[in-house]
Amino acid sequence: MICRISPETMARAAALLRAGNLVAFPTETVYGLGADALNPGAVRRIFEVKGRPATSPLIVHVHSIERARGLVRDWPENATRLAEKFWPGPLTLVLSKRPMVPDEVTAGLGTVGIRIPAHPVALELLRAAGTPVAAPSANRFTQLSPTTAQHVFDGLGDSVEIILDAGPCAVGIESTVLSLATAVPTLLRPGTISLAQLTDIVGRIEPAPPPVGAHTSPGQHLRHYQPRTRLIMTGPNPLPEGRGAYLRLPPDAGLAAACLYDKLHALDALNVDWIAVDPVPETREWDGVRDRLRRASAH
Ligand code: AMP
Ligand code: MG
Repeated sequence: MICRISPETMARAAALLRAGNLVAFPTETVYGLGADALNPGAVRRIFEVKGRPATSPLIVHVHSIERARGLVRDWPENATRLAEKFWPGPLTLVLSKRPMVPDEVTAGLGTVGIRIPAHPVALELLRAAGTPVAAPSANRFTQLSPTTAQHVFDGLGDSVEIILDAGPCAVGIESTVLSLATAVPTLLRPGTISLAQLTDIVGRIEPAPPPVGAHTSPGQHLRHYQPRTRLIMTGPNPLPEGRGAYLRLPPDAGLAAACLYDKLHALDALNVDWIAVDPVPETREWDGVRDRLRRASAH
């Protein structure tokens, strides 16, 4: 059920989380499907509802740096510098986990991805629930991420008791993921915080390992973020037969990210045979949008 934000709905959502249930909630990136990160049964429900393979780790959301530090073995100097600069915000840090973080959250890895979301509703929910919240995007596995409460409802229906509605997400694509658990920091997923911004703070960063087939490497699924309709990058090959529609993005990377999924959801609803999109610029600030388009058009 989609719920407007009120003190009553916030209290109910927090109580549902504490009792081991799922809550869909807004963040600045996309809507998340949250569960108490320290309750393995609750976390398993996320995978069931999403149809997500257990090999794909979840990001844990917290409301303070102190909370984040409590979940990890080791908090390097770079983590302090990045958190001070970018938290709350769309940056996930991967660090070595403490045993209290269940294997269900991390896909059995010894590391955990953590961030503080920059959204007042998410932060209030985290504070009220009093527990870290594991949350992937609130959509079925491989499908488009939701940037409105209606997108969440269209995809998951009544399998989530409560969908907190705070309007469209400002950032619009998933967080940048940076691992600090490797000798040299590694970019695991590009987002709107660019490689250049991160390099300014931590120096050299290894690029993301190339995506491989589904299920072999956590979080690196080549097919992801997909509309139902076939998405085609324009280029040397002619467009296919049938009825199609064009995805047109604004010329600014941040604005393009903000409207990307909403436009794809709308074009998907047209029931055309294909959606075409022109390649985006090769510059660093387009890395996040380019990555999502590549995965959304992979077949
Ligand atoms: P999402 O698919 O939006 O739920 O985001 C989760 C993503 O965060 C995964 O696809 C991984 O790229 C990344 N991630 C989260 N936790 C870890 C981890 N422990 N190790 C590596 N990557 C992680
Ligand atoms: Mg997702």
